[in-house]
Amino acid sequence: MRYFVPNLKLSADLPTQEKLEDKLGGLPWGLKPEQYPICRHCGKSQSLLAQFVHNPERLDLGKSDRTLLVFQCNYAPGGCPTWEGGSGANACFVLDPEELSDSPTPMPADCPQLETEARVIEWLAQDDQILLEQVSAFYDDEQLENLPDETRNRVYTETKLGGVPEWVQSSSEAPAEGWIFIGQLSDSYKFFQEPSEQNGIYVYLSSEYWACDGPNFGDAGIGYIFLRHQSGKPNGWFFWQCG
Ligand SMILES: [Zn+2]
Repeated sequence: MRYFVPNLKLSADLPTQEKLEDKLGGLPWGLKPEQYPICRHCGKSQSLLAQFVHNPERLDLGKSDRTLLVFQCNYAPGGCPTWEGGSGANACFVLDPEELSDSPTPMPADCPQLETEARVIEWLAQDDQILLEQVSAFYDDEQLENLPDETRNRVYTETKLGGVPEWVQSSSEAPAEGWIFIGQLSDSYKFFQEPSEQNGIYVYLSSEYWACDGPNFGDAGIGYIFLRHQSGKPNGWFFWQCG
């Protein structure tokens, strides 16, 4: 299975964002304030986890320039059920180009705690050598258990688009039929080049790459993004699991 890994740079190390771009954290691009998602549990503005743009190869949103946005509530970590799909403490939705403005989204009045902002400089295409006929096993715990370790260990565990999910817990939490896995978010950001030290963000070396903390997905958690195609814009679904 082909999958795509973001080559990230901290926005602090980049020129100011001037157009729609794939990004993690920060404020969205083009989301109108009236569409900004509010947590159904605490009533506060949520925080952006990721904004990704349609791409026929790595993210099929059904139409050019559509954008996918994923948020969760950062107001009271552990308080609002951000881990639960459809809970209202997270949000995952697609917008048409006509629904977007051509400017950065202003900070909501209640100033949610933003995630560190990083932008995707390029996507690196990879192949995990998982066969198409093995994919269904990743949505059935028993079948997954029966796959050779060597196969399971090839699943990329960090932020990616495409491929198969790296489950921290049971695959049975995936939404039912009709939903397609389109990518996952790690609770840390991985950098292939060393970020500059002047940006005030704590960056550490983690095996061969640099990293900084990402969203709160509990202990070593992973967030999963699913889409359901239908007439008009696809629906989105987000949830996370932790160890
Ligand atoms: Zn909340």
